[in-house]
Amino acid sequence: MRAPDSKTLSKTGATAEQQEVSVYVHVPFCVRKCTYCAFYSVPLGERKPPRSFLDALLKEVKLRQSELRGKTVTSVYFGGGTPSLLPPTWVGSLLNELAGVASFSPSVEITLECNPGTTEHQSLRAYRDAGVNRLSVGIQSFHDVLLRFLGRIHSADEGRRTLAQARAAGFDNISADLIFGIPSQRIDDVLSDVQELVSFGVVHVSAYELTVEKGTPLADRARSGRVSMPDEATVAEMFLAIHARLEAAGFEHYEVSNYAHPGRRSRHNLTYWHRLPYVGLGPSAHSFNGRERSWNSASWEHYVEQLSKNERPLQGREVLSKSEALEEEIALSLRLAEGLDLDRFAAQYGEQARSCIRRNAWRWSPFLVLEDQQLRPTPEGLLRADQLALEVLKVVAECNEK
Ligand code: SF4
Repeated sequence: MRAPDSKTLSKTGATAEQQEVSVYVHVPFCVRKCTYCAFYSVPLGERKPPRSFLDALLKEVKLRQSELRGKTVTSVYFGGGTPSLLPPTWVGSLLNELAGVASFSPSVEITLECNPGTTEHQSLRAYRDAGVNRLSVGIQSFHDVLLRFLGRIHSADEGRRTLAQARAAGFDNISADLIFGIPSQRIDDVLSDVQELVSFGVVHVSAYELTVEKGTPLADRARSGRVSMPDEATVAEMFLAIHARLEAAGFEHYEVSNYAHPGRRSRHNLTYWHRLPYVGLGPSAHSFNGRERSWNSASWEHYVEQLSKNERPLQGREVLSKSEALEEEIALSLRLAEGLDLDRFAAQYGEQARSCIRRNAWRWSPFLVLEDQQLRPTPEGLLRADQLALEVLKVVAECNEK
């Protein structure tokens, strides 16, 4: 998962002095664009990622070493785009460069997103040798007709092969992405996808609802009526069916879209949801130091050009106000099954905000439940987490006005 585009602040009130940090590396290249994708990525076709990209990443680590020096790196995440287009030696070079300026935690989680159709056994083994210890595989579906609809470059069998290769290469920490809510997809299709992932032994699943993003081919088709998206009730039924099937298989539903075996939650993504510091490298990558967010230029050519002149390709920065931080705290916490910690919330935003939430908690039943000092979403609450966050915020704002 890429660093969030929304503004974030630290859950713990973390400051720049905090010792632990996560690192995100954005790889902006894909073989071709999927029909639903609005992320920044450049379709390369048969071409390889240019070497100038690696040089620029290495340069960025050097230029930003003050943000890393003396810190302990707890996770590194190669996201994209399609990071599995990078030669494993490049991944190793970047990890070495990082290890030269910061120390790595003994339990550091190093994830590489990898797409079927871009990997083979040898390269997966080489990523592992380079230091990667977690793979996030873009399976999306085991149904060829749906994969073609999504414009994925791979078949269902290639997805299966990639998972088998990952196991054979020695990875035991494997996550897989699934997409639900695809036009013509049936609930049985989704459940058979889940079942197949369980039988492959993946320990983490990210299940995303297909959304129509502006400017994508899917948006064009939906607008012209060539495609009709499933209705809300169908999507909700799929969401709850996935939840039930994965929980029955021993997974914890710990975030709206994420499930994990005990002890296998994505450490890196929790950094975002807990609003802890991270350094984002690469085009369009976002960073957060506990107070300030900043982000790099989204154009990879501009990114490379700036770094060739020894300049950070910074596009913007901002410091959040207290009320913006409060909004984010609520919005991000209610996406997590652990919910909002009212003790911490009161420490940051005042006793009045806490008692306001406690007094009004009955309004959000049965979607949010108050258990001691935690305001937790139920599974039905996770399904409507964004809407609930808006309602909680509205009530807190009204209390503040009184
Ligand atoms: S592989 Fe991922 S990043 Fe690349 S176009 Fe498809 S969805 Fe977008």
